[in-house]
Amino acid sequence: MSLNKTPRSNRVHIALFGKRNAGKSSVINAITNQDIAIVSEVKGTTTDPVYKSMEILPIGPCVIIDTAGIDDSGSLGELRVKKSLEVLNKTDVALIIADATLGVSDYERELINKIKEKKIPVALVLNKIDIADENKISKDKLSNQLGVEVVCVSSLERIGIEELKQKIIDIKPQEKNDIKLVGDLIKPKDIIVLVTPIDKAAPKGRLILPQQQTVRDILDHDAISVVTKETELKETLEALEGKVKLVITDSQAFEGVSKDTPNNIPLTSFSILFARFKGDLLELIKGAKAISNLKDGDRILISEACTHHRQEDDIGRVKIPRWLKQKTGKDFEYEYSSGSGFTEDAKKYALIIHCGGCMLNRAGMVSRIDSVKKLEVPIVNYGIFIAYVHGILDRALEPFNNVKKIWDGQ
Ligand code: SF4
Repeated sequence: MSLNKTPRSNRVHIALFGKRNAGKSSVINAITNQDIAIVSEVKGTTTDPVYKSMEILPIGPCVIIDTAGIDDSGSLGELRVKKSLEVLNKTDVALIIADATLGVSDYERELINKIKEKKIPVALVLNKIDIADENKISKDKLSNQLGVEVVCVSSLERIGIEELKQKIIDIKPQEKNDIKLVGDLIKPKDIIVLVTPIDKAAPKGRLILPQQQTVRDILDHDAISVVTKETELKETLEALEGKVKLVITDSQAFEGVSKDTPNNIPLTSFSILFARFKGDLLELIKGAKAISNLKDGDRILISEACTHHRQEDDIGRVKIPRWLKQKTGKDFEYEYSSGSGFTEDAKKYALIIHCGGCMLNRAGMVSRIDSVKKLEVPIVNYGIFIAYVHGILDRALEPFNNVKKIWDGQ
């Protein structure tokens, strides 16, 4: 990923669903002015969902998700359907593309209901309006019947495309812009110190993405960001005596940073900011609280949202089980999941420990958390788990009053 681009997880995820060859791919081309999707005369060319990051004016940074036709039959078809529906877990706005010459069938109705059940904003797009019998299409009637917005377009003639883009802006969740990484904790002109260790694991010549994003959010809120290594923190705080409003550190350096940061300056970690930004800090904290109730032999799921290359001292397979043993003195049974499959049977776990989910957008992470919350299965993420086992969660939660109260059992 280019460093100049908005990370995929921060983009509005727009997924297009519809019967094979209702014109999904050509609608994508029309919205984006690009030929990213293969438009084919042969039914069902698109197989796996295709993700494409792009800037669409006036919507802004998006990920367009081109799904396979959900009406596919046969075993390969079933897999495609499953993959297409999984896409809903990461979708911010869903568009159902239907062929205006064929009208709306039970298939589109069912799909709309499925999407509405998940509380995802959805619009019905009637494509091929240039060749359909206009007298037979009543947009308002359809919209009332189905309880969704309806937009008529012709991807071929580029009719209705601007209206469709505006509709996407109108229905996309506002939350996307309201949730701040750190902006809601600070005021203009506040001085915020970021502690970023530069060790062997740090990439050459740049800061890592969470650090860059935090700096950007501080600047967006007219505050002042000072970046330092943990070895220069003391001098930095002395030089800015009495002026620093918040210190944010890499979790790995937390202990030392906590010692060097006077108690009257709130301190937290990048991973806690991201747990809040990405998911549901409260639920993840409840998950950390559940660790003390674990019993010998309990089953624990360690889930990672991508299939990255495993290192020798892998965090999920080696470090986390080791830390948990040290902290609790107990033995557990571990199971693992990675990639787009999360868990089909969460109930059997006493705890789920999930990675930071940098490859997931907020909708994706929240949907995972919600799915296990319903079953009352506790879930914690790596960042909060690490803070907990190292005894630093208490201090790191101080800037978040409500969550801190739950953590303290108040
Ligand atoms: S935190 Fe990111 S890189 Fe690590 S396992 Fe999760 S999705 Fe993959």
